Amino acid sequence: MTDTLVGIAASPGLAAGPAVRHDGAADEAVPAAESVAEASQRVRDDLAARASRASSPEGRAILEALVQFAADPELVGGAEAMVDGGTPPVDAVRTVAARFAEKLQSLGGYFAERAPDVVDIGERMVAALEGRAVAELPRPGYAHVLVARDLAPADTATLDVTEVLAIVTEQGGPTSHTAILARGLGIPAVVAVRGARDSTDGQELIVDGDLGEVHIAPDAALTTALRERENRRRSRARTVTGPGRTKDGEAVKLLVNVGTLSDASAAAEADSEGIGLFRTEFLFLARQDEPSVDEQVEAYSHVFTRFVGRRIVVRTLDGGSDKPLPFLGLGDEENPALGVRGLRTAVGRPEVLERQLVALASAAARTGGQPWVMAPMVSTVAEAKWFAAQTRAAGLPTVGIMVEVPAAALRSRQLLAEVDFASLGTNDLAQYALAADRQQGELGSLLDPWQPAVLDLVATACAGAAQIGRPIGVCGEAAADPALAAVLVGLGVRSLSMAPVAVADVRALLADVDLSTCQRAAKAVAEAPSAADARQSVWATLQA
Ligand code: PEP
Ligand code: MG
Repeated sequence: MTDTLVGIAASPGLAAGPAVRHDGAADEAVPAAESVAEASQRVRDDLAARASRASSPEGRAILEALVQFAADPELVGGAEAMVDGGTPPVDAVRTVAARFAEKLQSLGGYFAERAPDVVDIGERMVAALEGRAVAELPRPGYAHVLVARDLAPADTATLDVTEVLAIVTEQGGPTSHTAILARGLGIPAVVAVRGARDSTDGQELIVDGDLGEVHIAPDAALTTALRERENRRRSRARTVTGPGRTKDGEAVKLLVNVGTLSDASAAAEADSEGIGLFRTEFLFLARQDEPSVDEQVEAYSHVFTRFVGRRIVVRTLDGGSDKPLPFLGLGDEENPALGVRGLRTAVGRPEVLERQLVALASAAARTGGQPWVMAPMVSTVAEAKWFAAQTRAAGLPTVGIMVEVPAAALRSRQLLAEVDFASLGTNDLAQYALAADRQQGELGSLLDPWQPAVLDLVATACAGAAQIGRPIGVCGEAAADPALAAVLVGLGVRSLSMAPVAVADVRALLADVDLSTCQRAAKAVAEAPSAADARQSVWATLQA
C-alpha cells in the first residue's frame, strides 16, 4: 500500500523521484563581518554571484531585488544608526529588517510577498556578523524531490531545475514564496505537509501538485496512471491557445494580475484577454507623502497603453490597517485585519480616492484604455453605492466591487444592484471565512481556497450575481488552480485573473471539460467534508 501525505497544492503538475531532505543544516564558520556595512556588502556579493547562476528569469529577478534590499539605505543606514546609538549590530539588523518587512506586508499582495525577502536578507546579514556562512541547498548530483521545512527566497531562486524535480515543504501556504517560485519554474510543489521530512526521508516519491498529495514508495499502477495524466496535461498546455472557453464553447475570460510597472510589460506579452486585477498599491509603497496626480497618471498610462483594446480592471488603493500607508495617518490598531482598510480608508481621507479617480480618468483619456474600476474590501450596500457615485462622477463609467468579506458574498445581489461587476478576492475571503490570518504560515491549511466554506461563500456570491444579471469573476490565487478554476466556472464565474504563468494550464483544462462537468464539480465540492476531499472528488469528476 502506498502511503500518502496530504498538503496544499501550490504548483501544478506531477513529478517522481527520490526525496532529499534539507534541514537548513548547521552553518559553516567563516570570519565575522566587522560592521553592518561589511555584512551588507558580503550578502550583496553572495546574492549577485547567485543571480548570475539563477535557474530562471523569475529567480534572477528575485535575486537582483534581494541585492537591492541588501543595499537599501533604510535597512543598512537604519541599522548603522541604531548601532551608533549603542544597540548590538545583530539586534539592530533584526529590528530594522523586521520593521521594513512589516511595511511591505502592510501593502498586501505582491509587496507582502516580498516581506520574507527582507527578513531573509536580515538573517543573512546576521549570519555574516556572527561569522557563519549560510547553509546551501543540498546538491546530491542526481534528480530528486527537495523536502524542507520551508525555503528561503534566495534558496528557491537558485534551485537547480535540472536536479530539483519537485518541492515539498512542511510550512507555507498557497501564496508563499516557495509556491510562487515553483509556479514560475513549472515545478510541482506541495506545501504545508506536516512531518514531511521525517516520513519521506530516503524514499521514492511522487509529488502531485494538482491534488496536493505526496505518495511515498508508489506502486506501479499508481505511477503509470499519474504519468499518463501528466503527459496529457503538458501536451494540452502547449497546444491550446487564444481566448478561454470550455469544451462546449462557454466563454471564460482569462486575465492576468499586475502588481508593478514591470509586471505590466511582461503581462502584456502573455496570451491573455487583459488585466483582471491591477493592484495600484505599488505607487504608494513606503511613501511618507501621497504620489501626485501627475505621477499617478504616468504610472496608470504606462499600464493602460499596453492593454488598450483588452479588459483592464483596476483596483483602487487597498491600504490601511495590516497595510498601513504612513501618509494615510491611520494610527495603530489592536486588530488590524478587522480595522480600517481598503475602501474604509476613504471615509477618513476621501480626497485620496478622489485624486486617484481623477488620475485614472485622465490616464484613460490619454491612452484610450477603458478601465473598469473596483474598490477593495467592500462590506455593505452603502459602501458600494458611495463608491459607485464617486467613480461615475469622476467620468469612469464601469464600476465594481471586490467580494472578499463574507458579508459582501452573502449579500452580493444587493451590493451588485449598485455597481456593474464584482470580483471575488479569495485570498481575503478565505482569511475572513476561516478566521485565519493570511500572513501566518502555520495556518496554511485553513487558508486553502479549496476549503468548502470558502467555496460555499463563492457559490452564494455567484447566485446573487446571477439573480441580478451582473458579471462576477475571481482574482484571488484560487483562479490559478486549473481544477479549482473549473469549479469556479461551474459556480457561475466567467472571468479568472491570475499570474501570467498560470494561464496556459487553466486554459488547457477548461478546454477539455464542458460546462455541465464544471457544474458537477461544483456540486461535488458542496458535498465534500474537507478541502482535501473536495480536491479528490473534483479530480475524479473531471476525469470521469
Ligand atoms: C484577494 O484578497 O484575494 C485579493 C485578490 O486581494 P489581495 O491579495 O491584494 O488582498
Ligand atoms: Mg484582498
